[in-house]
Amino acid sequence: MPGLKKFLNGLLGRREADAHLKNKKSQTFRNVAYIELSNVCNAKCIFCPYPQIAASDKNMQNMDDATFAASLQKAVDLGYSRLGFTPTTGELFANKHWAEHIASALRHDKIKSLYYYSNAILLTDDNIEKILALPNRHKIEKFCFSVGGSDAATYKKMFAVDKFEVVQRNINALCAKLKAAGSDLKINCELRLAKTDKTNKSKAQKTFNRAGYAHFHPNIVKVFDPLGGLIHESDLDYLPEISHKPDPCYRLNDIRFDANGKVWMCGCVVSERPGESSLQIGSLTDSREDLEKKRQAVFAQWRGQEKIPSACQPCRLYKAAK
Ligand code: SF4
Ligand code: SF4
Repeated sequence: MPGLKKFLNGLLGRREADAHLKNKKSQTFRNVAYIELSNVCNAKCIFCPYPQIAASDKNMQNMDDATFAASLQKAVDLGYSRLGFTPTTGELFANKHWAEHIASALRHDKIKSLYYYSNAILLTDDNIEKILALPNRHKIEKFCFSVGGSDAATYKKMFAVDKFEVVQRNINALCAKLKAAGSDLKINCELRLAKTDKTNKSKAQKTFNRAGYAHFHPNIVKVFDPLGGLIHESDLDYLPEISHKPDPCYRLNDIRFDANGKVWMCGCVVSERPGESSLQIGSLTDSREDLEKKRQAVFAQWRGQEKIPSACQPCRLYKAAK
């Protein structure tokens, strides 16, 4: 899952009188365009609504080649140059064409950078070789892996599948191969833990980076968003509620192209829950102008009428741009 960035601070805190100027500013300061190569996942994390989403009537699938090409083009047309391949819920490597798609994004002259999150269950030797073979390495910000602790029991508790040994092997193999290749690719490894878990970064290094790859960065995540009540695990700590949301959230400047060809504002997991589509602004068949109009309407309603999209009302990841 994507982390919060400060990229757009300064953009949304001011109420602009001139709508045209407002449009120009938000285009200039655009942040991430997410392209969801798959909404299918192979885990059932206790902090994630994936099991409820998979059981809903949502179309669960990998993005097809034509939808990917159209998504990349639409992202560029809308002014984005930074891509995220992290699905809201889903697993990147479930799409067998992931490397071809990321390679074509890396070759695109309008794309300046990209990154993704994966759960590393399918980080096979074949996929590791594909990572090593990606072109234009300088455009890759980082590749991030999300895991459930540093032992099999914790992993099973957090991710609800028996894949600790697989994930441990995979991430260690990636680090060893990157080190042997003399790579400087940044690898982030986020351990998602229950509130009483004392695992630290040093343990994470020893568990997942036995080769001592210099560009491996472990991180501990112990607070979660309850996703408007979808998640209520007593073992988890949650972000505090936010009752005052005076200005639009800075992540509304992100856009997401989902695996089914729909287009959304915001790329975080909170933005699409079962029965929640207030941040969906159209589909790939819509023109750039129509998508932009709908996008601006969300900003204008929040600023002018304090009409907050229902997806954003319970969201604890909210952050106003300053
Ligand atoms: S958090 Fe990621 S890996 Fe876990 S179930 Fe959700 S989508 Fe899958
Ligand atoms: S408040 Fe809205 S835009 Fe911001 S992170 Fe939450 S769902 Fe996304």
